[in-house]
Amino acid sequence: MQLYNTLTRKKQNFEPLHAPHVGLYVCGPTVYGDPHLGHARPAITFDVLFRYLQAKDYKVRYVRNITDVGHLENDADAGEDKIAKKARLEQLEPMEVAQYYTYRYRDAMRALNVLPPSIEPQASGHIIDQIELIESILKAGFAYISEGSVYFDVEKYNQQHHYGKLSGRVLDDLMSNTRTLDGQDEKQKSYDFALWKKASPEHIMRWNSPWSVGFPGWHLECSAMSAKYLGKQFDIHGGGMDLIFPHHECEIAQSVAAFGNESAQLWMHNNMITINGQKMGKSLGNFITLEELFTGTHKVLQQAYSPMTIRFFILQAHYRSTLDFGNEALQAAEKGLKRLLEAFESLDKLQPAAATDNDAIAKIAAQCYEAMDDDLNTPIAIAHLFDAVRLINAAKDGKEALSAADIQALQELFKLMIIDILGLQADTASADNSHLLNALIEMALDARQQAKANKDFATSDKIRNQLTQLGVVVKDGKEGSTWSLS
Ligand code: ZN
Repeated sequence: MQLYNTLTRKKQNFEPLHAPHVGLYVCGPTVYGDPHLGHARPAITFDVLFRYLQAKDYKVRYVRNITDVGHLENDADAGEDKIAKKARLEQLEPMEVAQYYTYRYRDAMRALNVLPPSIEPQASGHIIDQIELIESILKAGFAYISEGSVYFDVEKYNQQHHYGKLSGRVLDDLMSNTRTLDGQDEKQKSYDFALWKKASPEHIMRWNSPWSVGFPGWHLECSAMSAKYLGKQFDIHGGGMDLIFPHHECEIAQSVAAFGNESAQLWMHNNMITINGQKMGKSLGNFITLEELFTGTHKVLQQAYSPMTIRFFILQAHYRSTLDFGNEALQAAEKGLKRLLEAFESLDKLQPAAATDNDAIAKIAAQCYEAMDDDLNTPIAIAHLFDAVRLINAAKDGKEALSAADIQALQELFKLMIIDILGLQADTASADNSHLLNALIEMALDARQQAKANKDFATSDKIRNQLTQLGVVVKDGKEGSTWSLS
């Protein structure tokens, strides 16, 4: 099996360090907001890798972390912790925020049929491991203490190793592109990054350490937790392309500084999702949560899209290609998935012909596995599955003859490829239902609006109360009413 390694920028044969065991680490979410479209692609990409490796009889230990401390605003070394900020705004304990959004994330992943990882460690539960790692880095001479904080000494590291090897950056460029420090900063160089930060008086997420009461730097948790659960050398590290720099670059530097070797043998990165050609962002008004997609309640969506439609849509592109979300493309994915699953179901009812075995089926199966072996080329594998769909549909029309053995071979191929490896399952009925549900709620709200316009407040209140009883929360605003499911 060939996988593309971001580190070497080429495809390589995948050979686990300790076959049949495979250690896989993927950077998980920072839990301070609803899971959104940007969370779906890495989760699904590495879920398919996890499933495919298992289908090839590897024993995979899949670690996907939960970031609940240390990730500051703008991914920087200064600013408020993302979770602490949400907690302040909502007047909650930070761990309440982290727990709530961890549950939300898990629910969304379950809906997308993403298998739970083998271990899902939280950064806040591994402060001791992170402190130990900092001590190793200090001992090796690649970090310095300043005003109770500890920073990684990038320049010193780069004299012996290559800082920038993953992202292709050169330290000289980084030096000229970053602002010069005014001498007030506790960092020696602007590109040095925090391993430990002393907590300011208002910073509520804080732990004891040899240097100060504070909190770990964001990049540290993944180095510490991957080493703890997968060892100082393991097979594959994955994540979204947006994490290559600085997050993964810093992870490599930390591991090399502490252990004397690189941890991950192979780095895999999924490309980003755009929406109608634009980067997704809160300021652009195209930031879509997964729940909004599943219920069709975002203004850019023409309808609800089922979790399986989203999953299928994502798998129809290679994970290293960009993927543009739009209604037309999603509707095409919905139809395509329906066709695929209908063909699968119809195999049960197909009358076997007294024919000799069709050699096209073995060829299609071989092509599917060949595509998956070629750096998880799911779009090509899916294209070959549609060759099988055409064959099945031709058999239904009496234009092609399939023997009992052919039908069984197709059933086995579909079960393995569609259900086990691609993780697709029938939920078109629930998508139709959610479509219908949305239309019915909109109808009830229209009737209520009409009653209000006629000053029939008894009826409008009655509709609202009945909706509330059914779990539909109606909010009245200046521009009409909005609703959500409680
Ligand atoms: Zn990470």
